[in-house]
Amino acid sequence: MIAVRGGLVRAFGTVLRRPCTHLHWAGAETAAAFQTTMDGAVRAGERAADEVLVQLSAPTTQEPDHAADT
Ligand SMILES: Cc1cc2nc3c(=O)[nH]c(=O)nc-3n(C[C@H](O)[C@H](O)[C@H](O)COP(=O)(O)OP(=O)(O)OC[C@H]3O[C@@H](n4cnc5c(N)ncnc54)[C@H](O)[C@@H]3O)c2cc1C
Repeated sequence: MIAVRGGLVRAFGTVLRRPCTHLHWAGAETAAAFQTTMDGAVRAGERAADEVLVQLSAPTTQEPDHAADT
């Protein structure tokens, strides 16, 4: 767990959760909603797992959708 100043997670969340080639980021701070809570951690984990599944199913043609956690 990391601690950041108020507002930073919301302001830069899209950057925090952007995959880096085959690295996919999870954790409460990367959540699109409920950041820094257990709910956000679970949502971010599910989103990261979905990203990996998408990348594995179409590694050369399809990029994961980072619009929002599910
Ligand atoms: C005192 C306190 C009270 C809280 N109360 C609430 C609450 O009431 N409700 C709520 O919703 N949220 C609460 N939270 C927030 C909640 O605990 C976090 O949002 C949530 O646990 C984040 O989950 P995470 O999986 O993102 O990270 P973490 O729970 O921090 O999990 C990260 C894991 O990665 C491990 N790790 C770190 N580095 C490495 C490494 N190099 N190699 C291998 N493993 C590593 C750590 O040991 C840890 O197990 C509280 C937090 C604190 C500190």
